Amino acid sequence: TTKTRFAPSPTGFLHVGGARTALYSWLHARANQGEFVLRVEDTDIERSTQEACDAILEGMEWLGLNWDQGPYYQTQRFERYNEIIAQMLEQRTAYKCYCSRERIELMREEQASKGERQKYDGCCRDKAPRETNDPFVIRFKNPTEGSVVFDDHVRGRIEIANKELDDLIIARTEGTPTYNFCVVVDDWDMGITCVVRGEDHINNTPRQINILKALGAPVPEYAHVAMILGDDGAKLSKRHGAVSVMQYRDDGFLPEALLNYLVRLGWSHGDQEIFSIDEMKQLFKLEDINKAASAFNTDKLIWLNQHYMKELNPEYVAKQLAWHMHDQNIDTSEGPLLVDIVSALSERAKTLKDMAASSRYFFEDFADFDENAAKKHLRGVAMEPLKLIQQKLSTLVEWNVEAIHQAIEATAAELEVGMGKVGMPLRVAVTGAGMSPAVDLTLLLVGKTRTEQRISKAIE
Ligand code: GLU
Repeated sequence: TTKTRFAPSPTGFLHVGGARTALYSWLHARANQGEFVLRVEDTDIERSTQEACDAILEGMEWLGLNWDQGPYYQTQRFERYNEIIAQMLEQRTAYKCYCSRERIELMREEQASKGERQKYDGCCRDKAPRETNDPFVIRFKNPTEGSVVFDDHVRGRIEIANKELDDLIIARTEGTPTYNFCVVVDDWDMGITCVVRGEDHINNTPRQINILKALGAPVPEYAHVAMILGDDGAKLSKRHGAVSVMQYRDDGFLPEALLNYLVRLGWSHGDQEIFSIDEMKQLFKLEDINKAASAFNTDKLIWLNQHYMKELNPEYVAKQLAWHMHDQNIDTSEGPLLVDIVSALSERAKTLKDMAASSRYFFEDFADFDENAAKKHLRGVAMEPLKLIQQKLSTLVEWNVEAIHQAIEATAAELEVGMGKVGMPLRVAVTGAGMSPAVDLTLLLVGKTRTEQRISKAIE
């Protein structure tokens, strides 16, 4: 069965590039009823932090990219790596290299001056192990003949001549295993059948395949995913705005929107744009990943977010909105139901953050009117309509959209003015601003008591 993994290094938060790689790897597992493993590659002790690790897990959870195994931590597997290294020394697929730093440096300089490829010259490769305490590193005995070939699911057939490859250091002088080696042992031990990762790792692949072969381990399939670029064509970075997945939550995006955005950023299925998560799981194929880099487009992400705010179950959207209400210190314990706010505002808000910010007046009295709206619709022009509508609203027994609408209509008819001459002052009086959902619906949600209080205040 298919088994994939996501193997982040915990040196920062989960950024959109990493999230997309994780998504593709997860989808490949889900599309094939396989398993998905989460592995934290934390061997770089200097740069790895617990906070980064927590942030990555939080991002995965928020996106709903659930894992079936792990998280495994490489720092907890040193014993296993050392065990394999000992075996390789025994089987002579690895060797101790006693070359001093100075010798290596000299060798490199010479190679460089001759215009040759810089690589270890194999000086210690076939020497018998020494019985001394001299410092050494352990190197993999890379084959010198033939070539490594693999069929990348994205990039097609790749072939590298073995003579191009170095005898890779697999353990440092202090004895710690190196990154490429840990990845190999992990992919083997964890039974990974397909490695989905960023294109920046493609140079590691032939080296890793050689080690796997030397271990007698099965070689997984590979899919190397291209970079994400900013809208200016440069590699996506903080400079382009939010790149942490959690920043998108904070900015008011639904995980469904971000997932849909990320799946399309570098993958396609015909010209379809909208994919529910179930659809992605059914339709995703590694072969349909684009070879070329993709450019990040915030407008498209917003478009998808608006789509999902309208299309997803309002109860669910309301739950996400509640987080933003709390984040913006809006006390929603009294006032309309959030699910009604979602229905009223999902047509106009771009994000949940917007939606929360523009629904404050449903829950809190505002201190000041929007200056322009007040000037245009309230001052000097609105007293008569407001007084009349106030009177009509106060007699309503049923507080519903139809009744409110009729009251506004009757007021306009009585004053022989258009509906707008009543509706606009009313809107500004009740919301403080010139924009809101339909005025009858707005009043309904604000509630009878608050509506009357606010009209009275505007009339003063
Ligand atoms: N830890 C690597 C990274 O952060 C991933 C390596 C891999 O997937 O093989 O980019």
